[in-house]
Amino acid sequence: MISWSDTGIVVTTTKRQEKYQAVEIFTKDHGMVRALCDSTIRICGFSWVSVDWRGRNSCENGFWRIQDIHQPIAPNSIHSVIGQRVCYLLHISLPYGDGASELFEYIEHMSREMRDCSSLEALNMYAYFEFLLLKSTGYGFDLKTCGVCGNVEKIEYISRDSGRGISRECRGITRDRLFRVPEVWENWSNLEPILSDLKTILLSISITNYFIEKSNLGHSGDHSFIATLGLVS
Ligand SMILES: [Zn+2]
Repeated sequence: MISWSDTGIVVTTTKRQEKYQAVEIFTKDHGMVRALCDSTIRICGFSWVSVDWRGRNSCENGFWRIQDIHQPIAPNSIHSVIGQRVCYLLHISLPYGDGASELFEYIEHMSREMRDCSSLEALNMYAYFEFLLLKSTGYGFDLKTCGVCGNVEKIEYISRDSGRGISRECRGITRDRLFRVPEVWENWSNLEPILSDLKTILLSISITNYFIEKSNLGHSGDHSFIATLGLVS
């Protein structure tokens, strides 16, 4: 029998049988793990937990013992919609056992900050989450080198076809369909994404959503979610 302890964020819960529910947790040190736990424990997506895991070997479904549960945001708020959306995208895009430590660190930061931030700030953090999710799953953007000429140039466009960055100078050479890069992306390299206006945030999310869908990470064209975001002011 193997066992370990960790902390993580609850991604999905599915009732399996009378006595057990399957709970998927994105853990700090063990990546995405799914295991069973007692069905009487009340947990929901985007809760933070301390857990003990035990199983017969590291690949096999094991059992959680959940030690501590913390729900950082109030239900029925835009923050909660964002939390659910984060869980959905983690569920469809992260393979089991994938460490993705930068992403984990950011989500931890995001949930801590989301306790008392405004809707606009929450949405801004969410936009950066999608950007980082693409990076963590190997579909990130190269914003330093122009994909047409191969030189280090200021990247102002992203090809809708290939996802490569393209400079203003090389724009006319390519036949690719292009997105204009939101300027804020240039500074998106740390845990404190600079606050943008709503228009820029929605533009960023529309581009990252396009590539999340294109890279087969999953169906992300959830128009009700986008419509909800549009109501934020
Ligand atoms: Zn170029």
